[in-house]
Amino acid sequence: MSLIAYVNGEFLPIESATVHIEDRGFQFADGVYEVVACYDGRFFELNAHLQRLQRSCESIQLPLPFSLERMESIVRETYTLNNLDDAMVYIQVTRGVAPRIHMPAGALTPTLVVTVRPLPEVDEEKALFGAHAITLADIRWKRCDIKSIALLASVLAKQEAMHRGAHEAFWTNEQRHVLEGSSTNILAVINGTLTTHPQDHQILGGITRDLALRLAREHDIPTEERPWCLDEPGLSECMMSSTTNAVLPVVRIDDMPIADEQPGPVTKQLRELLLHEISAMCSS
Ligand code: PMP
Repeated sequence: MSLIAYVNGEFLPIESATVHIEDRGFQFADGVYEVVACYDGRFFELNAHLQRLQRSCESIQLPLPFSLERMESIVRETYTLNNLDDAMVYIQVTRGVAPRIHMPAGALTPTLVVTVRPLPEVDEEKALFGAHAITLADIRWKRCDIKSIALLASVLAKQEAMHRGAHEAFWTNEQRHVLEGSSTNILAVINGTLTTHPQDHQILGGITRDLALRLAREHDIPTEERPWCLDEPGLSECMMSSTTNAVLPVVRIDDMPIADEQPGPVTKQLRELLLHEISAMCSS
């Protein structure tokens, strides 16, 4: 059976679901998006994702197409129509359709698309043995806190990572601070403290990052949100966080092994705590 997409009020088989060629998402990447995971009918942190979507919309002066309640029911209905157990739901909002000029005349009707895909299998190998990363100078714009659909820099970064046999690329700034990954947040353990770049315009405020910080605090792991570099003495673990991966260890960065190139104890603990949150939600 075909996957079903929601497009501007209609539910359609994904093959025949289309948006107009003059949609500003296509012409200008003038839009924002969200990705939320659903496990056996239970959405994980749906409110946090919808609120971030609302913040992204507000940041680009784009009205949310509907109230948050209505958005939630569209998301739930699209998921249900797809008959999947574990799924990733994409929500994309663009400024709408208009002849291609930078400043469209008059108010537009935003485009809303919701698509659902099976959640990728848990990457046991990466969880057990750790992922490899490369570092790249950040070439993105200065509002990475907005979850923009303009993802060209991330695509290029991922391509470069794959080309060099790695799984993720870490963006670094001119001070050589590790900001975040191409599609993940990055956390390190430095002298026993879970350390990650503060939530500013240089990173996306990841929902999983927030949760990892909260779980760490609840389990007496010290945390600090501050700029950090890869060559800091005392750096013993590195991990990446995202909705689709929870927390995964990173054991090699460029040609530098982290500690003994094995996933470290804090990373393993946080991964287990996160997976436990998910399974507790599923059985609640
Ligand atoms: N940073 C970037 C650039 C991302 O694309 C993502 C994934 N959407 C994340 C961080 C992780 O965010 P989350 O935990 O909300 O999935």
